[in-house]
Amino acid sequence: MKIMKFGGTSVGKPERMHQVKDLITRDNNKKIVVLSALSGTTNALVAIGEALADANKDLAKEKIEALHQHYLTFYKQLLKSDAAQKKAEKIIKEHFEFLNIILKISFNEAINRDILAQGELLSTKLFFTLLQELGIGAVFLPALDFMSIDENHEPELKKISEKLKAILANYPQDRIFVTQGYICKNHRNEVDNLKRGGSDYSASLIGAAINSEVIEIWTDIDGMHNNDPRIVDKTRPIAQLSFDEAAELAYFGAKILHPASIWPAQQYNIPVKLLNTMEPDAPGTTITAKEQGSGVKALAAKDGITAIKIKSSRMLLAYGFLRKVFEVFEKYKTSIDMITTSEVAVSVTIDDLSHLAEIIKELEIYGTVEVDSNQTIVSIVGNMIAESKGTMAKIMNCLKDYPIRMVSYGGSRHNVSLLLDAKYKNEALKSLNEGLFEW
Ligand code: ADP
Ligand code: ASP
Ligand code: MG
Repeated sequence: MKIMKFGGTSVGKPERMHQVKDLITRDNNKKIVVLSALSGTTNALVAIGEALADANKDLAKEKIEALHQHYLTFYKQLLKSDAAQKKAEKIIKEHFEFLNIILKISFNEAINRDILAQGELLSTKLFFTLLQELGIGAVFLPALDFMSIDENHEPELKKISEKLKAILANYPQDRIFVTQGYICKNHRNEVDNLKRGGSDYSASLIGAAINSEVIEIWTDIDGMHNNDPRIVDKTRPIAQLSFDEAAELAYFGAKILHPASIWPAQQYNIPVKLLNTMEPDAPGTTITAKEQGSGVKALAAKDGITAIKIKSSRMLLAYGFLRKVFEVFEKYKTSIDMITTSEVAVSVTIDDLSHLAEIIKELEIYGTVEVDSNQTIVSIVGNMIAESKGTMAKIMNCLKDYPIRMVSYGGSRHNVSLLLDAKYKNEALKSLNEGLFEW
């Protein structure tokens, strides 16, 4: 069994959905096809939720209507037969009726998550209708029947595995299964999701749950590039990455992969392939346990970072002090990305600001607290970076024109991370691109 996940752009146009159909029927292997929402849909649903949270029902209604029109055009180009078009009309009607009913009831966070789920529900149902129209045998697997997270928003891999295996056992002869990425149930049995970009995470969790032979992530680019192609003009795909390297890149901002999407594959040693729907024969990137080559392979940047410095004249690094600092973050379920220490101060970075005020208040018990917002972590990832001579000097030379707020080196052999003000991010990525890679 393999997993084939297709992202928003890969299903975002009727002709692309046809391409996806071609790709999943190229061989006769068993596969679970995981689909995202059509590109733009989740952004639109987020905007609808925001309008409702602001009690701006007119704006929400307008946005629902615009999205509705998009789907009414989409299905007519996707499907040919009257029967299939009728089915699609019914599906679209049902989901937009639901959105319109929400306009009439009082809004809350659980309803917001229901709104966000509509994109993947629509894309999978429309795609399934296309397969039916073409007479391609497939089974529809609702993700809400098996995908779940616990009260800490962590996926329940064991439960997911048991449920999914039990469902699949009912279909021993079938070869194609279609399911939604991103959406899941939470511990209250409400509809929830795996955060933005979460379909990659779904694919990896599903792969781990059934111990699939490979997890293919089909997207709109030919694999993981050595730098962010949205910012830097000259980038190139990387043929091979280790799980550790890919996890660092995903976590530190390479948008092609959801930040948490590597660990399930790594835990079960399942290769992950990043492939291009628009160029299916390009080699893409293969991610396995194997560590290859040495030196810098790629850069990524993570925005929206806040640095917090705790300065204390009272023996800051006395044993037990860091524990007290970390306990404050633990109490507010806020994870720390980077940490640096000196005799008189500790700096940490966080990206979840929901409890910033409380955290600062509690840290002030231990010393003066300074906060720098709008920071960016630039991560340089590769194999044995920490052992290779001269790499740090090259990095610093590329960044000589920018003030560096923090440096994290030696934490792993695969990563050097630097914290800069976000306004230097683009220039820093460009300068590192020129200085660290041979072109
Ligand atoms: P999908 O909708 O298929 O999940 P995403 O938009 O989430 O696709 O991810 C693919 C995009 O990630 C690419 O189009 C590219 O702009 C962006 N991206 C950012 N950093 C990288 C990188 N290092 N390598 C490849 N793509 C990257
Ligand atoms: N549709 C969701 C999003 O846009 C999940 C995904 O595309 O991976 O974030
Ligand atoms: Mg994505």
